[in-house]
Amino acid sequence: EPADQTSVKKVLLAAPRGYCAGVDRAVVTVEKALELYGPPVYVRKQIVHNKHVVNTLEKRGAIFVDETDEVPEGATVIFSAHGVAPVVHEEAKARSLKTIDATCPLVTKVHREAVRFADDDFDILLIGHEGHEEVVGTAGEAPEHITLVDGPDDVDNVTVRDPEKVVWLSQTTLSVDETMETVARLKEKFPALQSPPSDDICYATQNRQLAVKQMAKDTDLMIVVGSRNSSNSVRLVEVAIEHGARDGHLVDFADEIDDAWLEGVSTVGVTSGASVPEVLVRDVLAWLAERGYGEVEAVIAAEESLLFSLPTELRRDLKARK
Ligand code: SF4
Repeated sequence: EPADQTSVKKVLLAAPRGYCAGVDRAVVTVEKALELYGPPVYVRKQIVHNKHVVNTLEKRGAIFVDETDEVPEGATVIFSAHGVAPVVHEEAKARSLKTIDATCPLVTKVHREAVRFADDDFDILLIGHEGHEEVVGTAGEAPEHITLVDGPDDVDNVTVRDPEKVVWLSQTTLSVDETMETVARLKEKFPALQSPPSDDICYATQNRQLAVKQMAKDTDLMIVVGSRNSSNSVRLVEVAIEHGARDGHLVDFADEIDDAWLEGVSTVGVTSGASVPEVLVRDVLAWLAERGYGEVEAVIAAEESLLFSLPTELRRDLKARK
């Protein structure tokens, strides 16, 4: 066989990938709460959007519920990393629940921006995906002031009270490029549109997309490890295809990879969403190695070192226990 390029099989492994600071904090919050209070510990919504994480915590005694009214009076409930609307805090209080808020501080930042602009009586155009928990939570901070804009094509439908007093904010886990397109379309329509004081799309989302962009054109098949309901994971597949990957798939587990995807593939790109534990990536790499893709080359787009401290309520209880 000729030793041409196409016969060389290898993997490009993205960095950064996997857990961000907000997910790490949220998962550790549930683990510590289980240790400290003992099971069951209730969690409103999936703590992070990952099947494996949710299944693992369920086995250890976490009970995931959709709404606070499913939590017994007086029990402990943890709010997920995606954040909650103020009304959810009120409901929990009315049921005398002990709450631990694992909302990512970078989501809380967007909530604060929403409150501030609403107080100044701005119309807030919130760019995000309809129905996503984070968007529901953020919009709940000021429902009368916030209009959801779900991508560039939604701009035509947007109306405001005063086009001189409009600001855009966004969900933290969107495609950077698509969001800029939406903003450009909004600016055409509302030239006085103001921008958020700092990036709402978080560092982790940006860095994971950056790494994928760097490797996409050299990649025949991009495998993104992540769950279907994980916004940032789904975006990584889209970004890969937009930037030249021939094919791309999202998988929760290695055994979801289809052998047929490897046909004619010399370079496989691998990355994972911000809610994905590294063990799932290692499984994918092992699966690929068994099929001849044993050579792994790192593509490093950024270094990350951010860490968030645990929620105050939990830290206080941990301290009291000592
Ligand atoms: Fe926070 Fe970004 Fe992670 Fe979401 S993806 S939890 S906003 S750091």
